[in-house]
Amino acid sequence: MLRTCVQCGTDNRVPAKFLAAKGKCGCCKGVLGPIAEPIDVDLTTFDALVKETRVPIFIDFWAAWCGPCRMVAPEVKAMAQSLAGHAIVLKVDTEREPELASRFSIQSIPTFVIMHQGRVVGRRSGYAVAADLATWVQASSGGAAARA
Ligand SMILES: [Zn+2]
Repeated sequence: MLRTCVQCGTDNRVPAKFLAAKGKCGCCKGVLGPIAEPIDVDLTTFDALVKETRVPIFIDFWAAWCGPCRMVAPEVKAMAQSLAGHAIVLKVDTEREPELASRFSIQSIPTFVIMHQGRVVGRRSGYAVAADLATWVQASSGGAAARA
């Protein structure tokens, strides 16, 4: 994963398992904070992240034509920010990644799935506000998101 340093603009390559951790920019040695926004993933990136990530993973299954998906997108984004360092947030475009959509038997969108330690620990569909989503992530992961 490439992360851009906010201080100097340099792209830093960050291994998946350190996405939720604090790092250092290789160029200016400035702080590279934990990732705080949703990550658009394809199948390959998805599998790598699920394998390597220690913190709970929130997955937003969506599509561009889906109105409710667009409505909830800002809530997902705000939740990603509030859980930065405690969870990571992935976005799966079900049109582009039908294999992932069928692996999780996605029938309606938006559907949200929480994975922790390689297992699905939560699943729900439809609109929710950022605070509810964050509470749900923490509850589903047995508090791992709060402790991490
Ligand atoms: Zn830098």
